[in-house]
Amino acid sequence: MRIIHWFRRDLRLTDNPSLEWACQHADALCLVYIHAPDEESPWAAGAASCWWLHHALHALSESLAQRGHRLIIRHGSSLQELQQIADAFNADAVSWNRLYEPAIIARDRDIKTRLSEAGYTTRSHNAALLLEPWTIETGAGRPYRVFTPFWKAAKNTLPGEFNIAEPPDSWPPGADIEGLSIDALGLRPQHPWGDKLAAHWRPGEAGALDQLDHFVEHAAADYPSTRDVPAVAGTSRLSPHLHFGEIGPRQIRAALLGPDAPAAEKYLAELGWREFAHHLLYHFADTPQREFNPKFEAFEWRSGEAAEADLKAWQRGQTGIELVDAGMRELWATGWMHNRVRMIVGSLLTKNLGIDWRAGAAWFWDTLVDADLANNTLGWQWIAGCGADAAPYFRIFNPDTQAERFDPDRRYRDRWLSQPLAEPIIDLKTSRQAALDRYARLKEDSA
Ligand code: FAD
Repeated sequence: MRIIHWFRRDLRLTDNPSLEWACQHADALCLVYIHAPDEESPWAAGAASCWWLHHALHALSESLAQRGHRLIIRHGSSLQELQQIADAFNADAVSWNRLYEPAIIARDRDIKTRLSEAGYTTRSHNAALLLEPWTIETGAGRPYRVFTPFWKAAKNTLPGEFNIAEPPDSWPPGADIEGLSIDALGLRPQHPWGDKLAAHWRPGEAGALDQLDHFVEHAAADYPSTRDVPAVAGTSRLSPHLHFGEIGPRQIRAALLGPDAPAAEKYLAELGWREFAHHLLYHFADTPQREFNPKFEAFEWRSGEAAEADLKAWQRGQTGIELVDAGMRELWATGWMHNRVRMIVGSLLTKNLGIDWRAGAAWFWDTLVDADLANNTLGWQWIAGCGADAAPYFRIFNPDTQAERFDPDRRYRDRWLSQPLAEPIIDLKTSRQAALDRYARLKEDSA
């Protein structure tokens, strides 16, 4: 068979079921990546993700070149490009790994139908999740809405061990098909900001595997106690690698299931949140735009010039509130922010400042290297109190108290706050009470 493997967000050779299947069955193999941002609209990759993707594609292309293969790069309509390549390559089959964002599911369904009608065999596989969203449901046959029972059921369903495929050791001959250079995709931001990210990350599969090794060796055992301390590199920082599929959750699980069971349990529960986020996005496809909890549809978020100015101050790390500004500057400098600090900046924006969670999610979307529709939607709706299994509305983080608790020696704040802060743009105490009143009214209105 002449097989096309269509790389998407599965930019790796290990544990890549579609690639494995293609290598096992192909007499000739064509490896393709198609840049089609319009098809992900309105969630085309933001600036930080584009920077990452640019480097990840270079890394993948180099590692394929070492195996005598070329990554064929295209830009435009995925269907048209696949049809054109299939025709030029005289393909029999097209294979890929599944994704779970609503726009991509619809596109892939259409592509599957159109390619099948044109006489090609199509195959899709699971590379991204431990369990796909439709494989687990409540006793009543519905999707889960609460994390704890979801994860309990998921853990019971998971096999003791996954079979993890090593990179193929025999590669069928490749294809000589026209393609673009990666640089021609224009993914690299014009803004010099992009260059700063390189100091903090190594996109690509080799970078992901090194990061996993480093975490297992130096941080995994202490994860339950250090994961909440932003000054410490206590978390795995695998999120962008996971988003782009440079590593998969099965590989991480296999690396962690060692002797240190309690630490692994806590870490695996975080991967569980990732699974839960994908479960929710799959079953409740409009949640990136709309609140999971319908009571919030009428909620009055602040708008107008003063709210715009507050949003800008928040984005620039100029709220005058230390831990918040430190977090927003970490984000700007590195494309990543520690989870605890994400919760704190999110709470300040949506609760103290009363600004719509979608504005925060949009800023994160553009600036995070790990921007992920499922995880970002879950995170923002959780902190705004409007999501599935969300933080209760009265949970309003006090950034100063949080700083004393999680950054007692100021290391995190001092690292990111080089200039003196402006006056706080908001009084934490009065804005907290105003938020409580707003949320309480919402409860009364819908009672
Ligand atoms: P670790 O602590 O090492 O966790 C391991 C992996 O588990 C992560 O890489 C991630 O894939 C997953 N994970 C951990 N926590 C969560 C969580 N709460 N929800 C879903 N998955 C989780 N994560 C993203 O990957 N992309 C986002 O766009 C994103 N936006 C967020 C927005 C807000 C407001 C909040 C509060 C959280 C958001 N998160 C997002 C979740 C979390 O902050 C990051 O996954 C985590 O900080 C990544 O760092 P790490 O890889 O070192 O995490």
